[in-house]
Amino acid sequence: MRNLVASLPVCALALMSISPASASDCLNNPDALGVSRVLEINTSDGPRFGTLQYKKTLDLGPKEVVLTFDDGPHPKNTQRVLAALKKECVKATFFPVGTMVQNYPDTLQAISNDGHTIGTHSWSHPNIGRMSMARATNQIERGFRTINAVVDQQIAPFFRFPGLNDSKIMKAYAAKRGYAIFSTDVSSDDWRGIGANTIIRRTMSRLHQKQSGIILFHDTKYATAAAIPALLQALKKGGYKIVHIVPEHTYGAVKSADAGADAAEQATVAELTTPRKSDGTSAVSMAKH
Ligand SMILES: [Zn+2]
Repeated sequence: MRNLVASLPVCALALMSISPASASDCLNNPDALGVSRVLEINTSDGPRFGTLQYKKTLDLGPKEVVLTFDDGPHPKNTQRVLAALKKECVKATFFPVGTMVQNYPDTLQAISNDGHTIGTHSWSHPNIGRMSMARATNQIERGFRTINAVVDQQIAPFFRFPGLNDSKIMKAYAAKRGYAIFSTDVSSDDWRGIGANTIIRRTMSRLHQKQSGIILFHDTKYATAAAIPALLQALKKGGYKIVHIVPEHTYGAVKSADAGADAAEQATVAELTTPRKSDGTSAVSMAKH
C-alpha cells in the first residue's frame, strides 16, 4: 500500500485526501452532523493559523469550526474519540506525538483509516521554543518522519508546537520548509484536568463568543473522550458546521522534501543561522551562486 501510494502522482494524492464526508453519506445516521465542506490549505509559505497567538486564522465563515486533537494516539481514549466522530460522520485533524505513535502505531493507522487529517506535534513534546535550533529542528522533523512512516497515506505538512511554545526562528524554519503552523481560536481547557461537562460548557461558551474557529482538544484525555459525543450534539443543536481541513500538498510533496529530508533540513538551518548580509542575502545563498 505504501509503495502504491508513493508511486501515485501528487495530484492523485491530493484528490484522495479531499473526499468530503457529508451528513448525507452517513448511512447509519441520517441526522449526523457531517462535514459541511473541505478546506484545502496551501502550506508553501508556512502560514500560521489561530488567533490565540497569531494575526490570522483559517478562512472560516460564521458558525464554521475545525476540530483538532493533540498529544495522542492513546490506545483507549483516541479510539473513543474516533468512534464518536465516526457516528456523526465528522472529520477532524490530529496532531500526534512521535513517541506515542511509536507505542501505538495501530491507533494512528485507525485515525488514518477513518479519513482524518494527520499532522505532527513533535517527536516527544518538549518546549521547542526554548531549545537550540538543532534540537528543535530534530523534534519537528523526527515527528513528521516517524508519523509519516507509520501510516499508509501521506500525512499533512501541518505542525502544532507542544504547549503552543513557538519561537521566532522555528516559525521561520517552518515557513522555509513549507509547514503550516496551527495554534487555536478556542481552547477547551481539557488539559487542565476538568470534567467532561466543564469541557463542553467552556468550549461552547467560548465558541459562542467567537462564532467560528479552530478548537483545541487532547485525545489522550479520558474526560475529552467522554465529552466529545455530547459536544458534537451541542454543535449540531447550535447550528455549527464542521470544516475538514486538508493540505493542498502532502508532507511528502512539500517543496524541500524532495531534496532529501536531511539535506533540506540542514540547508534550511544553515540559511537561518548564517549572519545576513546588508542586502538581505545570506552568506550561504551567496556561496551557491
Ligand atoms: Zn500537546
